[in-house]
Formats: sequence, structure tokens, C-alpha cells
Amino acid sequence: MARIEIKNLRKDFGDFNAVKSSSFVIEDGEFFMLLGPSGCGKTTTLRMIAGLELPSSGEILIDGEEVGQRPASQRDIAFVFQMFALYPHLNVRRNIAYPLVSQGLPKAQVAAKVAEVARILGIEDILNRPVGGLSGGDRQRVALGRAIVREPKAFLMDEPLGALDAEFRERMAEELRALHDRMGATTVYVTHDQLEAMQMGDKIVVMNHGVVEQFGVPQDIYDWPATLFVADFIGSPAMNVLRFDGVVQPGDTQVTMDGIAFDMPRLRAGAKGALALGVRPEHVALDDGAPYRGTVQAVEYLGTTQIVTLDTPHGEVKARVPSDRAVTPGTTTGLGFNSRTLSLFDTDSGRALL
Ligand code: ATP
Repeated sequence: MARIEIKNLRKDFGDFNAVKSSSFVIEDGEFFMLLGPSGCGKTTTLRMIAGLELPSSGEILIDGEEVGQRPASQRDIAFVFQMFALYPHLNVRRNIAYPLVSQGLPKAQVAAKVAEVARILGIEDILNRPVGGLSGGDRQRVALGRAIVREPKAFLMDEPLGALDAEFRERMAEELRALHDRMGATTVYVTHDQLEAMQMGDKIVVMNHGVVEQFGVPQDIYDWPATLFVADFIGSPAMNVLRFDGVVQPGDTQVTMDGIAFDMPRLRAGAKGALALGVRPEHVALDDGAPYRGTVQAVEYLGTTQIVTLDTPHGEVKARVPSDRAVTPGTTTGLGFNSRTLSLFDTDSGRALL
């Protein structure tokens, strides 16, 4: 088990700064997600934790010990690669046993550990099969078995489910999470898929252009995005962002957008100039009595809910409302925003004011 602390971690490739002064903590036993769009630096961060890439500056502490400049072999963590390379000429049992055999462990011990891992993964019945003919899921389990058998302090996974089709991916995600809950080993998992991160992670770091935008539990990241980037990246559809000019003071519990006042949670900071009000689609109600108006552009039926796209003076707004609410394109309606859930951003810095 391991607690991993990342302090001011930076990585340059020549002139290119791939990771900029990142700091976050992965607590012992957490399933921890590194999330962000392609090229944001998540793989580079993971490779630095693994010891496959050395930091340009900053620290990586595993259980309080600085390991940043140590080679991978001295970190006692297992890297599970996306491609799950197995040894095709060996059967399942030998693939799983390989790391222990190469450590020179006695045969009886190897056999006992392989049996235990096979039981945990539910693959006892395929131990003597060649890996060549296995299904994708079983190959994945064997590869995991090979990582687990060493009993490392932590697992590092780089988009392990990236190559799988959607249905199978969901099943494997559930299995991985269940496996983690049984074993309790610290797991660091890279993904660009925000849904996967929200569903699987105890905590999430959201990265963009080498910068940590936010770090926290999924619900806080969803409810209270720290930046406009996170507001846009997390959630489907994304948070609505209404841009306007205004002035707010720290402690304010109201904001006035072009003459219409909105109640909102207490502001931590003040700002003047370009602001943006953030509201999730499920917190927008179609309320004919509300003073803020929008014109229905489109309706997307999703079963129990529908996504209504409206045109407003501050841009497009999407509302997720029950499907039994009749909505006609071309009509104008009032929009009510749930005041307990509103966010406010300073557009220049991109940072939330609460
Ligand atoms: P992806 O999901 O596409 O892998 P990522 O968030 O994992 O994206 P990284 O692989 O960490 O991103 O890459 C971050 C940036 O660093 C990218 O612009 C990439 O081109 C660059 N980069 C990564 N490795 C190297 C390298 N060895 N030399 C030069 N540039 C690199």
C-alpha cells in the first residue's frame, strides 16, 4: 500500500514544457484518476510516478520517501500498459507466474500465489490455456494477474480500457473497480474519458496543457468546477456558461446579469469586468414566470429526460427537463436557475469566484 505525494512536479522535453508545476496527493488505497484531453500531460505524469521518465524538477514521495530520481525497478509499483503485452508462447499460468519466476521465488510459493491471483480474478479454469486463443477480456485479466502477483505498493494504468468497445469497456471498468475494492491497493489510472473518471475514481485530477486545473472528489469537481476549463470538460452536456460584464464583491450572494438578479452561493472573491455564470443543464427549469427568457431552438429526446437547447441574450443554454414537459421549438419561455448550484467565474483568469 502506498501514499503518493506529487510536489511541484515539472517535465520539459527540450524547449517544450509538458507538465508545469503539478501538486496533488494520492492517499493510500485510493483509486485515483488522472483526467484530461489528449496531450495535457497525464501520461507523462504517470510515467514520472512509474520511474519511466525523470522529472525536470519537483518531487515524488512514496510513503514519505523521495523517489523522483530513482529507476522504476526501485519503486515497487506495477505499470499496467494499454496494450497488455502477454507472452504468446506461454500459457496463462506461466504468464502470471513470470514475474515471480524471474525473481527466483521457490516453485511452491509461485504456485500458491498464482492460484490465489487466479481465484481473485476468476480465471482458475483457463490457467492451462495458451494465451493466443483467449478473448479480449480474459487477456486483460491475465495481464492484470501478472501485475497483481508481484503485490506491488501501487498500480499505474494508462488508459487500460482504451482499445475496447463500449459495452465490454463498461464491464471491465466495473471489474477493475471491484478488484481494487477487494485488494485495496493504491491505483493511479489515466483516462481522457470524463465519464469513466467520474464513475470509477475516488479522486480526480483534471489536467489541461500541463497544468492541474482541479483536484478533488468527483462530486465536488462536477458541482463546483474550479475553472472554466473544468466546467466545460466535465459533464455531458457541459455546464452552461453565460458571459456578461459585471461587478461582484467577496461575500455577495447575488449577481446581476444585465439587470436581472440571480441568487447564488456566497462568493469567496470579487471581480470586475468579464464574468461568466455557470449552471448545469439539470439545474435549468423551464418556468414561464421567470424573468430570464430564452427561445427554444431544438429538443433532443433521451427517454426519461430531454435536452432542450435555447437561445438566450448570453448564448446557447441547454436544459435537461423531464420528457413529459411539452416543449415546442420556436416558442419563448422563462428560464429558472437553481440558486444553490450556480457558479461564477472571472473570465480573464478562468477561475471560479466561489
Ligand atoms: P494522450 O492521451 O494523447 O497520451 P497525454 O495527456 O497523456 O495525452 P502526454 O503523453 O503526457 O499527454 O504528452 C504531453 C505532451 O508532451 C504532448 O504534447 C506530447 O507530444 C509531449 N511529449 C510527450 N512525450 C514526449 C517526448 N518524449 N518528447 C517530446 N515531447 C513529448
